[in-house]
Amino acid sequence: MELHGALVASPGMGHFVPILELGKHLLNHHGFDRITVFLVTDDDVPRSKSLLGKTLTEADPKFVIRFIPLNVSGQDLSGSLLTKLAEMMRMALPEIRSAVMGLEPQPGVFVVDLLGTEALAVAKELQIMRKHVLVTTSAWFLAFTVYMASLDKMTLYKHLSSTGALPIPGCSPVKFDRVQDPSKYIRELAESQRIGAEVITADGVFVNTWHNLEPVTIGSFLAPENLGSVMRGVPVHPVGPLVRRAEPGVKHRVLDWLDLQPKESVVYVSFGSGGALTAEQTNELAYGLELTGHRFVWVVRPPAEDDPSASMFDKTKNETETMEFLPNGFLNRTKDIGLVVQTWAPQEEILAHESIGGFVTHCGWNSVLESIVNGVPMVAWPLYSEQKMNAWMVSEELKIASRVNAADGIVKKEEIVEMVKKVMDQEEGKDMRKNAKELKKTAEEALNKTHIPFAYFIQN
Ligand code: UDP
Repeated sequence: MELHGALVASPGMGHFVPILELGKHLLNHHGFDRITVFLVTDDDVPRSKSLLGKTLTEADPKFVIRFIPLNVSGQDLSGSLLTKLAEMMRMALPEIRSAVMGLEPQPGVFVVDLLGTEALAVAKELQIMRKHVLVTTSAWFLAFTVYMASLDKMTLYKHLSSTGALPIPGCSPVKFDRVQDPSKYIRELAESQRIGAEVITADGVFVNTWHNLEPVTIGSFLAPENLGSVMRGVPVHPVGPLVRRAEPGVKHRVLDWLDLQPKESVVYVSFGSGGALTAEQTNELAYGLELTGHRFVWVVRPPAEDDPSASMFDKTKNETETMEFLPNGFLNRTKDIGLVVQTWAPQEEILAHESIGGFVTHCGWNSVLESIVNGVPMVAWPLYSEQKMNAWMVSEELKIASRVNAADGIVKKEEIVEMVKKVMDQEEGKDMRKNAKELKKTAEEALNKTHIPFAYFIQN
């Protein structure tokens, strides 16, 4: 029997990258004969294609990638990022159904990411044997999502209003507001509870993590008295790190510039595929970078005033040609030590370059993992989604990052200088670098493992 896997990703590079990597793993290491990946996207297939670059040009008849473009114009997508993406996945359901139905041979395994759990019901209806969810972020976020969904209303609201630590079974206790924005969480509560409840209707859950990165949380999922019972026995498989690796190809000018810089001397600054700062914050960051005196590569986006994730959807902003929003004379003053790149840069290649010494990041999970697999310590600067949890984890638990505070809602230039210097110059930074390099070794070991035996996929 030919084993065919159908994989579906919600919009955004942060979801495309890990699902494509998972597809490659299943094909190359888990005995699959064929993989078809569906990438749901907001009507901008050419842009997605150009960002995915080489991944799409590798011709392999057993690994097929198809886009499901959505026309979102005229739709009310006014909520938080999670609400918007979940709504888009809902809109895509009929397309997903007919695309999967048309596959030959019929897939025996179905995987969808956490934002598309409603498609599990479609897979059930199509009688696909094994249905899975891929969590493109941490095991801790999965723990949080399923635990909150398992609570009755009274207990849930008690937790939300409590100033004490959140008692997720078997997980390190942390106060809710340290890792979530309470008002935002309340706004997306219904969607988040639905997702948490749907996850446990899958036959199994894959998480983009590995044992040494999250030993406590993964241990709790394995324990029937802890998260094992919240999952109602649905197995959780750490399958990470699912990261793109630097591949030879056309060399970007940033890499030529990096070749000329000393080892571990450059700070790389990027807020992911959609993160944008306000005009005031962009100014503070520019002055802060200049004041550190360190070499830097900054992937800069035009400012967005209200919603830091706005440029994920507003492509017109990304196409702006000028950089007039940067402080007067900044580019000229920093031209010998800094390189400013608009909107997009080849991040995996940059982080793998030996001249990179630190990464100022919004803590999207893919960025965090890409930093770890290259042993690069971070300045954690969360903006939206679950990034506050990720920032907490890398700074407080893994001790591979300094974390900005943004006490007045803005990260001042003095704080930026302090955080960057901590990572690049101080004893604390040396320890972070050492810890990051140790984690890198464990990531390599995890990468070389076959996580799930073939028999698992063909069980009834
Ligand atoms: N990325 C990139 N170049 C950029 C910005 C982002 O290659 O200029 C890639 C990055 O390497 C990562 C993904 O896009 O693989 C972003 O995922 P992440 O989870 O870090 O953040 P998100 O964009 O989902 O907020």
